[in-house]
Amino acid sequence: MGILIILFLSINLPNKRLYIPLLIFLLLLSLIALFLNDKGKYKSSLTLTISIFLIGVWIPIYIDAYLTSNDLIPFVYLSLAIYMSAYFLTARITIFITVVQIIFLVYLIKKNPYLYVQNWISLIVFIVFIALISIINSIIRNRQIFIIDSQKEKLYWQARKDPLTGIYNRLFMEEFINDEFPNFINEKKDFGLIIIDIDDFKSINDTFGHFLGDQVIKQICNLILSKIRLTDVFCRLGGDEFILIAPNCSPKNLLLIAENLREAINKLDLQYEEYNINNITVSIGVANINEKICDWEDLLRLADRALYKAKKNGRNKVYAELD
Ligand code: GH3
Ligand code: MG
Repeated sequence: MGILIILFLSINLPNKRLYIPLLIFLLLLSLIALFLNDKGKYKSSLTLTISIFLIGVWIPIYIDAYLTSNDLIPFVYLSLAIYMSAYFLTARITIFITVVQIIFLVYLIKKNPYLYVQNWISLIVFIVFIALISIINSIIRNRQIFIIDSQKEKLYWQARKDPLTGIYNRLFMEEFINDEFPNFINEKKDFGLIIIDIDDFKSINDTFGHFLGDQVIKQICNLILSKIRLTDVFCRLGGDEFILIAPNCSPKNLLLIAENLREAINKLDLQYEEYNINNITVSIGVANINEKICDWEDLLRLADRALYKAKKNGRNKVYAELD
């Protein structure tokens, strides 16, 4: 449209008045494209933008015979829609736009004896060349975007998952609770935390070595993962300490889950080469949201206090701070 305005203002076109409604129409279409873009309908906005390029070049060619009566240059602008389409739409649409435009172009040139004697083949080669370069460019660009996006995704999860166990880490836990906790507070819904700490894990490491200690951590995590609901979030807080976030779980069920996990872990019987590791115990602290709790750190402190009491009262126990 900018080009049309420049043309309109600078060139002494005999049919200038023909361009006024066209410019107004294109301006309207541009505003609609901007509106669609603003509403997040990017695909429609881009399709409309490319249509503006097509309309903005073809309508003047059609309505104003003077423009192309003895000049091939206005046809060069056909490559603009091709370039834009390759950049924002698909290669297929770009090829379609190129082929259809070239067919119309050849038709117009053949109809006009003056244009027909000019070097129009070179113009078509130029347009095809622009189409090819634009498509190749956009394929390379899309590949690069894909690689960057997948690297970003990989880094995102690398930062939020524990490399040993594959479960979420503390960063993920904090982000998750930060996002979810206010809704549960506002709607007064249950939101429970279960903190699990392996008892005397240091002695497991000392007896069986660090590598087998790692295997014990992994097995405990796999066991817990197999026993929780899809809506629960299980994270490693650090070392031998884990947290289970259980939204929409009543205090009674929280206690049941915690007791179940404690028993199941205690029943683990692990065999690694000549070593048999069993009678692993964990201490568990349980807490649920209540009126006194303002933020999730309060709730975490409460669960931590319950865990401390479970340890203090002899380990291999579930202790709850539920109100
Ligand atoms: P408590 O019953 O009081 O929890 O005693 P504990 O021995 O389990 O606790 P403590 O905090 O003294 O020791 C935890 C140990 O866990 C110490 C640390 O070397 C070990 N540990 C932490 N992370 C890992 C890990 O990723 N792999 C292994 N193998 N050991 C770990
Ligand atoms: Mg421990």
